[in-house]
Amino acid sequence: MNSKKQNQPKDIFKRLKKNGTKFVRVLFCDNANIIRSKAFHIDVLPEHFHTGVSITVAQQALPVMYDAVISETGLTPVGEAWLVPDWSTLHTLPYTPTHASLLGDIFKDGSPWSLCPRTFLKRAIATAEKAGLQIKAAFENEFYLLKSTSDSITPTDDTVFASTLGMNINCAVIDDIADALTAQEIQVERYYPESGPGQQEISIRYSDALQAADRQIIFRETVRGVALKHGLTASFMPKIFADQAGNGCHLHLSLWEGEQNIVPDSDGIEGVSKTARSFIAGILEHLPALMALTTPSVNSYRRIRPHFWSGAFRAWGLDNREAAVRVPSNFAPPSPTHFELKTVDASANPYLALGSVIVAGLDGINRGLDVGEPVAIDPGNFTPAERETRGIDALPSSLGEAIAHLLNDDVLQNALGSELAQAFIGVRRAEWEAMKDMEIEEEVKILLSRY
Ligand code: GLU
Ligand code: MG
Repeated sequence: MNSKKQNQPKDIFKRLKKNGTKFVRVLFCDNANIIRSKAFHIDVLPEHFHTGVSITVAQQALPVMYDAVISETGLTPVGEAWLVPDWSTLHTLPYTPTHASLLGDIFKDGSPWSLCPRTFLKRAIATAEKAGLQIKAAFENEFYLLKSTSDSITPTDDTVFASTLGMNINCAVIDDIADALTAQEIQVERYYPESGPGQQEISIRYSDALQAADRQIIFRETVRGVALKHGLTASFMPKIFADQAGNGCHLHLSLWEGEQNIVPDSDGIEGVSKTARSFIAGILEHLPALMALTTPSVNSYRRIRPHFWSGAFRAWGLDNREAAVRVPSNFAPPSPTHFELKTVDASANPYLALGSVIVAGLDGINRGLDVGEPVAIDPGNFTPAERETRGIDALPSSLGEAIAHLLNDDVLQNALGSELAQAFIGVRRAEWEAMKDMEIEEEVKILLSRY
């Protein structure tokens, strides 16, 4: 929000009215990882200021394919919840300037609801705080820009990684996306055309964990909103073209004690501190189950393949782009200062994904887990037998497998809480059953515009 000083209903009302705002959208991200919103009209802002807008509890029971309630979630169309605005996240939308938007926390019976993903992340952050740890993070998105035609999907370019021709072709839309992110107080860091035709990557500055997840919602919204204004479709769908690079959404993490980044330790293995190594060990320990939350769509598993830099192996390594956890080195000390989880894509609800990664990492610290030897090879160049002798496992190759692991993971399930776990797994299973035998073309028809 542009001015934290003016967060009284009257001031906000006046300012929005002066800006020509007609609607305020309250955003939430559901168990199918679709970003949704209900909006209220500016003239009724005062009466919506504290309570926001109501939704049916069944919103957390819908799969990605259609708006139909999955009964295995334990939810029915009976019961009301409230999208309560977090006014500190208010921004006018640069791509639809008559609308403003903010993030909502889902309340039920006057308190944060057990099925609210943003509340789940807040809980995970609070648990870390209790252990004296702050988590900073950024989601690093890749997406495709496509020309919108009714019967075919045509990328905006046919260029390769970091192509300056790709930069020239897409300059207008990329600049507008950067401006729109900047206007919403998101610091843009780097941009380059990614490997696939029409594929782009724009990275943004890290922040504290809650803000990182909020920014992931704003990022997805902004890229798609701006692209639409340019007559384009932007899609974060994990794998659109079977033979081209997938869209990753690598999660970058650092661990802090107050102002001190505690990842670097010049005496630690690969320069990584013991605490950070235990956190990484926790992530790797839980990774097969975590993937139901970080790569949660049926389509996600088409992306996680050897030689596509998507982290297909349960391993960690310094500057290793084929390991699930890459530790990127810096130009100069201190180095490294953070690590990256590659088995994440933008079909993940960022609150659930980041919250569960924190839970897994903290479990690693609590149990004093040791991450073992870093991997300095491309595991994809070895036979399965060779990998086994080196102790490198392949990760789940389908959503069905990841769900089975999550069902056996008490740490993650307890952290989610029984109601959220049941609803989330219910939705995942419904998607798996409906989509497991689909060809990629059928998945594209459903998912291209959802993510
Ligand atoms: N596109 C790759 C993925 O799916 C990532 C490429 C990169 O390292 O940036 O994760
Ligand atoms: Mg990339």
